[in-house]
Parts: sequence; structure tokens; C-alpha cells
Amino acid sequence: MSELVDVTNPSIWIKGIEAPVKYHELVKDKASKKRYLNSHHRTRDGVICMCKETGIPLGVGLRQGTYYLYPLHHSDQERHAIGCPNYRNASDKESDERLLEYKNGRVVLKGRIAKENNNSERATLAGDEVLEVVRKVSIKKKQQVIRNILEALWVQAELNVWRPWFDGKRDYKTVRNRLVMASKNLYVDGLNVGEHLLIPYAYNFNAPEVSIQQYEKFQKRLYSNEVIGGFVVGFVKKIHIDKTGRSLLFLQHCPRPMVVSKKNIDKFFGKFSIKTGSGIALKKYDLVVSAFVIKSRCGHRLYAASLSGFRVNNYRMMIPISTTSDEKLLSHLYENERRFRKPMFVESKIGSHVPFVVLEDVEDRTHLEVFDSTMDMELLKDIQAHYSDKKQSVWWWNAEGPIPPLPNADRR
Ligand SMILES: [Zn+2]
Repeated sequence: MSELVDVTNPSIWIKGIEAPVKYHELVKDKASKKRYLNSHHRTRDGVICMCKETGIPLGVGLRQGTYYLYPLHHSDQERHAIGCPNYRNASDKESDERLLEYKNGRVVLKGRIAKENNNSERATLAGDEVLEVVRKVSIKKKQQVIRNILEALWVQAELNVWRPWFDGKRDYKTVRNRLVMASKNLYVDGLNVGEHLLIPYAYNFNAPEVSIQQYEKFQKRLYSNEVIGGFVVGFVKKIHIDKTGRSLLFLQHCPRPMVVSKKNIDKFFGKFSIKTGSGIALKKYDLVVSAFVIKSRCGHRLYAASLSGFRVNNYRMMIPISTTSDEKLLSHLYENERRFRKPMFVESKIGSHVPFVVLEDVEDRTHLEVFDSTMDMELLKDIQAHYSDKKQSVWWWNAEGPIPPLPNADRR
């Protein structure tokens, strides 16, 4: 993923043809479809859409003498890049809503963030008042948007997808590059996320000034009122309470900490049952945060007005999780060399059930679900009803017992 690809005209890889064909060339007319697709009628892995790096296999059908492409499984549609012609929401109804949309060549995330255009007015406010202005924009709602931005970046960077051959390749530098690339075409509330984003460079001990320059450049834009805020994404390193009682949040690879209110710190870390205080111990790549930052009143710090994030299972895979059972199941899939995707809320229809994992190496794309006795029974019943309704095969693991055998992977 070194450059922005035109997802509306993806390359289609066709078995037996040396160079990939552009989608629009392939579907140009009846003759073209026949030429490219006729030897793949009813095969399962002869035609692959390359709108995403992982590639999504497509089925080839034949109706009244015309070849056409179709998703091999209904859940495959959502694997395509948003904007790809194969990302058809055929099952979407008029009333269905999604948080991520493709509009005029942009990936647009719905939601609002504090946006003030009147910089001169802002500049006359004292430091404390500036914070108040931003705080008034419902912090709670904003927190959800901040979380959605992080999810959207993760999804667009394909970091919610796992293949055994990714093992050993998903290091911080790669993850950072992928997120930065994904941010370039992501918009929220009219803002280009990429233009307002700081993800620290992988720290280089031989050239620490590079990280400092990166940080200072970002900070300078805030302090010159060029922008009213920005986004910071990174992995938590530690929290430090300084002499004056301020909470400082340090991120991995980031040369300077952010200031966070005690309330926000407690609320955020409380969600992960992490006790805040001076000495929290976290694994190096465990908790990823996204913050909406503004300038702080105490000088040259970034102030996190809003904070959100999620845990990832481990540093090799970086798949978002919410419980230790999730973590166990992902390790199990890893050990069994399975191919899967973890769908995220941000890419799903609003109000729909989002499975924990979709196995992508079985024909029926079995959905994996984890439950335990602490789970709300009504919710569990709703999920069961959802599966019988959709006739989607599902695999359940009661996390209070051992992991049952997984469906066999198709050999390919
Ligand atoms: Zn595609």
C-alpha cells in the first residue's frame, strides 16, 4: 500500500492471465466479460478483487449468455474497500444506515467534532475558557466519534484482517504506515483526518530529533491557531501524575506526553479495569488510544479534550479485542493458522449485530461468537435469533469451558 489506489476501478486478478485487469475494462461489454471470465465459471478462487491487499475472491456466474461477478458469500461484500464496485450493499434497505460512506472519491465518517472557524475569537479567550468552549461540545458524543475514527483507520488499514502469512510483518512501523495511508482519504465533519493526525514515528535512538521535530510541527499548528484541534493515535506507555497533580499520558514512541484531565483518565482507564496512578504497567502494544487534542493552558503541551480507544490482542496481530476470552480465541486461531476478519462496528449497518470473528477460510464464512454466564440472556437470545433468521452458520464458544473444535478450513 504505497500509494492511493482508485478503489472505484480496482485491479482484478484472474488466474491464467499474467497482469491484473482493471475492473471497468473487464465489465466493459459482453465480449470482454466472456474473454476474461469464461474459464472461471463456478470456480471459487480464479478471480480476485484487489481493492484491498488481502484480495477478495469473487464468483463467476452466467446468465442468458452473459458472464457476471458475484460475492461468494453475502458477508464477502463488506470485505471490499468502501467505494469498490464489488462493495455492493445489495442487502441494504433504504433505511439502512452506515457510519462510513464513499462520497465523491472520499471515505466519509459520519459524526461531528468540535469545529470552530472563528480563530480570532478563540485567540482572545484565556486558556481555561478555550477548554470550556471545546468541552461544551458534548464530550460524550465526541468520544464516540474519536473511537469511530480509530476504528475506521483500523478497518481501512486492513488491520482487522489476519492471514497466517502476516506473521512477523505487523510491527509498529508497518501499522503506523498503514494507518497514515488510510487517514489520507478519511474525512469527518469536513476535516481530512490525515491532515490533522499525529501518529508518532517509530522512535529511532540514533536520530531522536526526528520524533521531536514531528511532534513540534504538530504542536506548532495548534499553538499558531492554524487548526483548532488534531487527532493523536498511539499505544499507551504510562501515566504520570506530576507535582501539580496533572495527569500526563505518555505514548509509545512519542517524545512528549499529553495532558489529560483526571476525570477523563479515570473514566477511560476504568473501562479497561486499569488502575490509574503513577505507575501503571502495560504491555508495550496493548492499549491503543485516539485523542482529540487542543493546546493546553500550561504552555507547550497537547491537551487531550477527548480520549477513546481499544485493546489489541497482541503485538504480532494487533486485532482489537474487548475481553480476555476474545484474546484467547484469537490466539487459538493464530495457532491453527486460520484466515479471518474481525468486523468492526464502524463498518457495519447501524443497529445490526456485529459478529466477533468471521472465518474466511471456510465456504460458509462461519461466524464465531463468544459468550459466558455474565452475558445478558436477552441479548444472547437476540443474537441466536439473528443467526437462525439469517441462516448464517455460527460457532459458539462458552468461554467458561474449553474451546470447541473449529470448523475445518477449506484446502486451497
Ligand atoms: Zn473489491
